[in-house]
Amino acid sequence: MIDTQALRHNLAALKRRTGGRAQVMAVVKADAYGHGLAGVANALCGEVAMFGVANLAEGLQLRDCHVNTPVFVLSPVMPDERAAVAAAGFIPVLSDIGEARAFSVLAGSSGMEAHLAVDTGMGRAGITPGDAVEFARAAAALPGLRITGFATHLPSADEDAEFTAAQLAQFSGLSAAVRNACPSIRMSHALNSAGALVFPDHAPDLIRAGLALYGVSPLPEFQDMLQPALEWQTRVGLVRDIQAGQGISYGRTFVSGQPMRVATLAAGYADGYPRILSGRGSVVLLGGRRCAVLGRITMDQIVVDVSAVPGVRAGDSAVLLGRQGDECIPAWELAHRAETVPWEIFTGIQQRVTRLYT
Ligand SMILES: *Cc1c(COP(=O)(O)O)cnc(C)c1O
Repeated sequence: MIDTQALRHNLAALKRRTGGRAQVMAVVKADAYGHGLAGVANALCGEVAMFGVANLAEGLQLRDCHVNTPVFVLSPVMPDERAAVAAAGFIPVLSDIGEARAFSVLAGSSGMEAHLAVDTGMGRAGITPGDAVEFARAAAALPGLRITGFATHLPSADEDAEFTAAQLAQFSGLSAAVRNACPSIRMSHALNSAGALVFPDHAPDLIRAGLALYGVSPLPEFQDMLQPALEWQTRVGLVRDIQAGQGISYGRTFVSGQPMRVATLAAGYADGYPRILSGRGSVVLLGGRRCAVLGRITMDQIVVDVSAVPGVRAGDSAVLLGRQGDECIPAWELAHRAETVPWEIFTGIQQRVTRLYT
């Protein structure tokens, strides 16, 4: 269940946080962080400057949703996909003059937009800072290309404020020099969710928001500003009373010490509920109560202890992630137990799980 009102609330909260100065690129890669590309794109298309996707295929999927908002490709474009990116009018981000020359040839008579990237610390893409001005000058001179943006990416905005502040200061200086060398650049952008929350004063033109838009803060102190948009529900398939000594699930890693009432739920690791959560104190919500997951998570089913929850019946809703009554399982809780991050929990939710929008 995805609450589109929450998505819009989070967008407004980010705009407020950055003082209304910056526009927002809604990052919708990986099926909008598992929230469903079409539903999210349609909920936000009137209110964001751009959508950010990882690659050509995701951009084309977005076009199939009939949204006309500009599409920005966040990852390096494969050489054999450059022509299609140019033809679709997507905006690539270029890391070297070779890429720029290739797009210049493909841009055609109407030309195409592109941004330039500088690597200020992420180590993944972008020109080295010392070569940025020369790169901008050379790219600006290429026919067919309209260089409209200058970008960098932050590796530690939620973990290392000192490093990030230095990075942003460097980017700010480079940005001025690069825009001087390439006057067609009208937007500089560096901030992801954590960056926008922690360093809102460094959002000159555009922020690239993913996780926070979906209502999860990379840092706990900003969670109150946001509303989680996703609630992951499954249903009870069976309720059973078991005797003491009954093993549960593969490997019989859990054996009941006393008679219990258990519910079998219709979700498993093939839905994206991480198998690593087995035997790690994981809980689900049933009847507004936290119920322990028993034994190993299987492909399609998990068994939970409902001894303390009266009246549980087949067909009842269970919440794997999100709120039920007064209880809540935040994405961070699952992520910590699974030794990962909310980004991976969300993008792990498989297509078998139906997305519904309210
Ligand atoms: C995924 C991505 C983002 C969004 O990051 P969040 O932390 O989810 O806000 C921003 N910029 C780039 C380059 C990305 O790849």
